[in-house]
Amino acid sequence: MDFCLFCKIVAHEIPATILYEDDSTIAFLDINPVKPGHTLVVPKVHGADFRESQVHDLTAVIETAKKIAPAILKTVGAQGFNFSSNVGAAAGQVIFHTHFHLIPRHNGDGLVNWPHEGATQEELAELGNKIRVQL
Ligand code: AMP
Ligand code: ZN
Repeated sequence: MDFCLFCKIVAHEIPATILYEDDSTIAFLDINPVKPGHTLVVPKVHGADFRESQVHDLTAVIETAKKIAPAILKTVGAQGFNFSSNVGAAAGQVIFHTHFHLIPRHNGDGLVNWPHEGATQEELAELGNKIRVQL
């Protein structure tokens, strides 16, 4: 059943520049790339985000990323890449079908990753305690 835009790409119902697919995953170029070669790696089974997807589907996504990353980097001449998932609207997620962004990076490309808030050792320890009791 088709739940969403990425389900439609999985089903080949709408066009996408597909780089690779197998039984569990599909990888296609992002329609609005941060950098050339920006690719989305997607489990075929619908889940709204990382939290809903099964571990074996997420594992398959990692396997696909390992397979395709060298070809993408070689093609665009990049030295590295960011591989991440926006989980939830608060994190900037706009398509609610689990996906990972593979964004090629060049030395000195000027893209800023994360501003760091910083924390003291005491703050880290206190927060660590609070998180561990939730596990
Ligand atoms: P996110 O903020 O993680 O939900 O990102 C969704 C990504 O999907 C964005 O980078 C969009 O440019 C990309 N996107 C949206 N529609 C399409 C599409 N039809 N084909 C390829 N990429 C898409
Ligand atoms: Zn979907």
